[in-house]
Amino acid sequence: MASKKTSKTVAKKTGGGGSAPATPPRVDKTKISAADRDAAKKNALTTFAKLRAMHPDAHCELDHKDAFQLLVATVLSAQTTDVLVNKVTPHLFAKYPTAKKLADAEPQEVATLLGSNGLGMYNQKAKNIVGLARGIIEKHRGQVPKTLAELIELPGVGRKTANVVLGVAFGTPEGVVVDTHVQRISQRLGWTAHTEPPEIEADLCTLFPKKDWDMLSHTLIFQGRRVCAAMKPACASCGVSDLCPAAFHAEKIGRKDRRPRS
Ligand code: SF4
Repeated sequence: MASKKTSKTVAKKTGGGGSAPATPPRVDKTKISAADRDAAKKNALTTFAKLRAMHPDAHCELDHKDAFQLLVATVLSAQTTDVLVNKVTPHLFAKYPTAKKLADAEPQEVATLLGSNGLGMYNQKAKNIVGLARGIIEKHRGQVPKTLAELIELPGVGRKTANVVLGVAFGTPEGVVVDTHVQRISQRLGWTAHTEPPEIEADLCTLFPKKDWDMLSHTLIFQGRRVCAAMKPACASCGVSDLCPAAFHAEKIGRKDRRPRS
C-alpha cells in the first residue's frame, strides 16, 4: 500500500508514467561547472598576460598629484571622458589645491568654475566634491580614507570610484573597477556571462588574484580604447584573437556605449 502511494507520488512529480514529458530543469548559464573552473582560470591568466604585453603602458589616465586629487578627478569623470576632466582639473586644483581649501568653498562658486571649463552636470559634481572635501576634513583629519567602507560614505563616491583610489593611490584595491570597457571586454573574452557590474566584478575577482585587480581594469580599458571598440573591434589585429571566444563576431557581444539618436 505504502509502496504504491510512493510510486504514484514520484510519477506525478517527475512526469513519469504519463505521456507528458517532465519539464527540463532550468539551466543557469551564468554558472560554470567546477570541472571547467580551473581551465577557465588558466585561460584567463594566459589571455591577461598577453593583454598586458599588448598594453605595457596601461595606467590611470586621470591627471593627479595625490590621493585627494585623484578622488576628486574620479568623481568628476562620471558620465564624461578623462580627457575633458584633465582639462578642467588644472583650473580646479590651482584654486583649491587641498581638501581644506575645497571644503571652505561654496558649491556654487565651484560649479561656476567647472561649468565655465566645459564640464557637464557641474552643479551636482560641485556639490559632491565640496561635500567629500568637508567629509575628509571633519571625519578623517584631512586625509583620504584608505578603506572602501569609509570612502563610499563620502558624497558622490561609489564602489567604482573607491576602488580607483584604493588601487591607484594606495595599491590596496578591494575589488575590480568595472567600467563600460571592462564590462564589454570581460563578456567578449568569456570571463563573465553577467550583464551588471557587481556580478561581473565578482566573476573577475574569482578568476584573478588580488594582485592583478588594479592592473586588470587599466589593461582592459586600454584594450577597449585601442583595439576592442564597442562597434568595430579590431579582431584581425588583436593579439588575443586565438584565445577569444568572440573573435570575428564580437559586435553583438558586450555592452555598447549609448549613442544619441539622430
Ligand atoms: S579578438 Fe576581437 S572581440 Fe576578442 S578581445 Fe580581441 S578585438 Fe575584442
